[in-house]
Amino acid sequence: MAEARIIDGKGFAAGLRARIGAAVEQLRTTHAVVPGLAVVLVGEDPASAIYVRNKGEQTLEAGMHSVTHRLDASTSQDELLRLVNQLNNDPSIHGILVQLPLPGHIDTQAVLSAIDPAKDVDGFHVVNAGRLSVGLPALVPCTPLGCMMLLKDTVKDLRGMHAVVVGRSNIVGKPMAQLLLQADCTVTVAHSRTRDLAAVCREADILVAAVGRPEMVKGDWIKEGAVVIDVGINRVPARDPVAAAAGKTRIVGDVCYAEAASVAGAITPVPGGVGPMTIACLLANTVTAACRSAGVPLPAGIGL
Ligand code: NAP
Repeated sequence: MAEARIIDGKGFAAGLRARIGAAVEQLRTTHAVVPGLAVVLVGEDPASAIYVRNKGEQTLEAGMHSVTHRLDASTSQDELLRLVNQLNNDPSIHGILVQLPLPGHIDTQAVLSAIDPAKDVDGFHVVNAGRLSVGLPALVPCTPLGCMMLLKDTVKDLRGMHAVVVGRSNIVGKPMAQLLLQADCTVTVAHSRTRDLAAVCREADILVAAVGRPEMVKGDWIKEGAVVIDVGINRVPARDPVAAAAGKTRIVGDVCYAEAASVAGAITPVPGGVGPMTIACLLANTVTAACRSAGVPLPAGIGL
């Protein structure tokens, strides 16, 4: 069996960002609309700070308006809600993202629910989750949106394929299943209580792993020729024992890539697969939100 085709998420994301840049320029010159994204970070979680910085940089690179609010970890829920409300009413802001996780004294659901669904570019508001599930236009969570773009680019016609999604989080697994259903796949959602998970995965023409367990999906869980989308980002000790002893780490997915690549038809690597798509889709969602708010058609090549 030949090695699987590698699905180049990094390259696809770069192409998407270029199309977004062109769309932003077109919106500015033709309709005087400049899509604006506000990112709110509460506290000093180092990983969150890196994500927020990357989001701000890529927003500016795409020619968009970018605002970052960095708030102290002691910020009260009321103060955060006031900021969200201010951003909801700011016409220069089309997308609001509150970086998760929030400090423990803040009710995350209360904050996410306070975001205007039309500006909810993370797609976590119940209104957007509901719209997605009933098939209405919605702002779709960025990671599953990115997975779907890669799948459509790889497979072209998904109709009738059996897709197995391992993981049922509100952020990845559930919206992923909804998108696959909309694309006329037959969808199975597996989770920690699924019996004989390996056998369920072996049924998949498309296997999406969003679990958070390093290299859990083995090569013999995969049907020959299946398309494998690995959402997992797991930090494990470096391969070299000396480096590992010095605390060096590496990133692996939820799929054992070395085994899967000789069975699958196509597979996303980690890193360089799904990861780079997430911020690109955040920018895409902001353009979508700006177009909807201005009553302007979405430029081609930005959505699904
Ligand atoms: P999550 O909220 O922790 O959900 C994990 C899901 O996996 C749950 O539904 C859980 O089942 C299921 N699960 C856990 N252990 C399992 C097992 N042994 N067998 C079968 N199912 C199991 O995680 P998440 O936020 O969806 O993220 C999943 C992974 O994607 C993580 O590695 C995360 O870092 C990564 N991620 C990547 C991106 C990106 O930009 N590429 C974005 C978001 C997340 P139960 O519901 O039964 O507990």
